[in-house]
Amino acid sequence: MGHCSNLKMVAAYVQSYSFLPFALIYLSLVQIVIGCDGVRSPVAKWMGFSEPKYVGHCAFRGLGIYPGGHPYKAKVNYIYGRGLRAGFVPVSPTKVYWFICFNRTSPGPRISDPSVLKQEALNLVRSWPMELLDVMQNTPDDSVIKTPLVDRWLWPGLTPSASSNGVVVVGDAWHPMTPNLGQGACCALEDSVVLAKKLAAAIRGGQDSVDAAMQDYSQERWARIFPLTARSNLVGSLLQWDNPLYSICPFFFC
Ligand SMILES: Cc1cc2nc3c(=O)[nH]c(=O)nc-3n(C[C@H](O)[C@H](O)[C@H](O)COP(=O)(O)OP(=O)(O)OC[C@H]3O[C@@H](n4cnc5c(N)ncnc54)[C@H](O)[C@@H]3O)c2cc1C
Repeated sequence: MGHCSNLKMVAAYVQSYSFLPFALIYLSLVQIVIGCDGVRSPVAKWMGFSEPKYVGHCAFRGLGIYPGGHPYKAKVNYIYGRGLRAGFVPVSPTKVYWFICFNRTSPGPRISDPSVLKQEALNLVRSWPMELLDVMQNTPDDSVIKTPLVDRWLWPGLTPSASSNGVVVVGDAWHPMTPNLGQGACCALEDSVVLAKKLAAAIRGGQDSVDAAMQDYSQERWARIFPLTARSNLVGSLLQWDNPLYSICPFFFC
């Protein structure tokens, strides 16, 4: 299939979405689509990728606000419980980020009322260290979000390549991973840098050279992404272990 007709098909497919963060780039005679539309990417779906898989736990996240300054040291604080863990870290003199990961067999219904979400999060850690509860209580309702955690394993030979006929995916659109190693956004940025470098070097060589550069990107990044996705999933399973012998124990470290 020629690139023009392929790109027209992508455009037709995504037309049902009001706006999509993909770049349609025309440089000289070269046309490409870069799909960077996140975990539910229609571009990835169009390329044949499967839906990301729910891994059995969800996360709450929020930002505690202290207009007069917070009392916390600049370090990451982790608290581990049974099938439940939390953490908080100052991100500025007046803001403290926090998260809770908790086991749930299914993501459950979508809750749109932010005050209900915050209460649900507080209920999970009612008797946990007061520093955590303080940060959560200082969080405006509308900055609390709940996310079912998902990933997609890029099995060699079974999963489509990241690029095909002038269309390429980056970041979560290609490789959603659980946040247990804190690498999803880092990898999305790395993807962008690697792809940009390869395209810059290839663009003068025309469409064939650009196609080769995108394939090269796909292979190079796969070698980093696949093991990270698997490791992150495994670490999550271990950290979310809900063995009854394992009770709440706070660990604090930088
Ligand atoms: C609980 C949790 C904690 C995390 N912690 C970390 C961490 O510590 N470190 C780390 O590196 N990563 C972390 N991540 C992962 C990180 O958030 C993602 O990997 C990263 O945001 C992916 O970037 P992206 O640009 O590929 O996708 P996104 O950030 O999802 O960006 C995609 C964009 O596309 C937009 N979009 C999608 N579809 C449409 C549409 N139809 N119309 C309009 N706009 C659309 C979305 O609104 C969004 O703005 C965490 C994730 C979670 C869930």
